[in-house]
Amino acid sequence: MIDIAAIRQQFPVLNRLVKGKPLVYLDNAATAQKPQVVIDALVNYYSQYNANIHRGIHTLAEEATAAFEDTRNAVQQLLHADSREEIIFTRGTTEGINLVAYTWGRQNIGKGDEIIISGMEHHSNIVPWQVLCAEKEAVLKIVPVNDNGELEMEAFHSLLSDKTKLVSICQISNSLGTINPVKEIIKAAHAAGAITLIDGAQSTVHLDIDVQDLDCDFFACSAHKLYGPTGVGVLYGKKAILEAMPVFMGGGEMIKEVSYQHFTPNELPYKFEAGTPNIADVVAFKAAIEFVNGIGKSAIAAHEAALLEYAAEQLTPIKEVRMIGRARNRASVLSFVVEGAHPQDLGIILDNQGIAVRTGHHCCQPLMDRFAIPGTTRASFAVYNTKEEVDALAKGLQKAIKMLL
Ligand SMILES: *Cc1c(COP(=O)(O)O)cnc(C)c1O
Repeated sequence: MIDIAAIRQQFPVLNRLVKGKPLVYLDNAATAQKPQVVIDALVNYYSQYNANIHRGIHTLAEEATAAFEDTRNAVQQLLHADSREEIIFTRGTTEGINLVAYTWGRQNIGKGDEIIISGMEHHSNIVPWQVLCAEKEAVLKIVPVNDNGELEMEAFHSLLSDKTKLVSICQISNSLGTINPVKEIIKAAHAAGAITLIDGAQSTVHLDIDVQDLDCDFFACSAHKLYGPTGVGVLYGKKAILEAMPVFMGGGEMIKEVSYQHFTPNELPYKFEAGTPNIADVVAFKAAIEFVNGIGKSAIAAHEAALLEYAAEQLTPIKEVRMIGRARNRASVLSFVVEGAHPQDLGIILDNQGIAVRTGHHCCQPLMDRFAIPGTTRASFAVYNTKEEVDALAKGLQKAIKMLL
């Protein structure tokens, strides 16, 4: 058992009041709060060794470079990548997916080729492929979602063909919490000759990730959903594929040498890291990884699973509440609608009670269309949430229903 009270003390924001009430933060699938160690790492970087990395020979530059590259090692371990060259720092999951679309995609996708995504993707795993398909006259195929919010796997298998060049799927849905069978998906995609990208924005904090065991070709995630800073993410790619890919952004750091006729790209991973990166936030990301490792992902997952179960017990008896997404295999996301009440109105009434939930389409408009709803209200749990907070949500919801219906 983990000591939730002690964990809560490490998150300064949890002490604040919202509208005069203690904050109940249940919007963790959008972004998690930051523990003091992450905040300290940021302050320490700026107050002790702020410098540009890789090029300087002075002490501050060496310290900053070492700290930056230390995070790369920590990420390599977090994802169980084969080598640190396969870990590219980005601004987040969105940039990682776009990087693949703009480089690998431009090089490898042609007229009539097919890209498969699923019906529960975040807009950041839809739009880059729409842009690419429009440019290349390629075709985007969608794996349908059943009424429980699970992928229809038979339909997925029948979409695969020798035209399929890429399968890009989220490991955990941010709007339903569904955990997808990505290992099976990756295996089938490879058998059809396609490569695979896994959107790990939600899964990296909830599941043990082993990119070698999954055998995915790309894996994208964001630090801010793992108790780390915003503006930092990671794109993992298999080394041979990254080496064959053209460069993404041009500029400093990504080159070995430049003349007016020509440039030579840098070695991996720097080839894909043009310009001065988000050094401070990359450095602080390591503190977030250590925070998670210190508690243990399985202990965190067990706590969140218990909260999810408890929340389902508290909310299901409320007769106006209809759950959206009842996948058997699910992470700590509870999405629901209240018949006759707009999610936004619910969100405002809950906020007046200090309760932060997400309302709307959660960057998944096509999925909302699938369920014929404008959006949901979503409560998503993290390691610091408690049963008392779930009780506050249930009570707040009943109050909102009384006011709105
Ligand atoms: C949050 C999220 C993204 C986008 O991540 P950013 O950090 O905003 O780039 C993509 N996919 C899923 C499943 C997400 O939850």
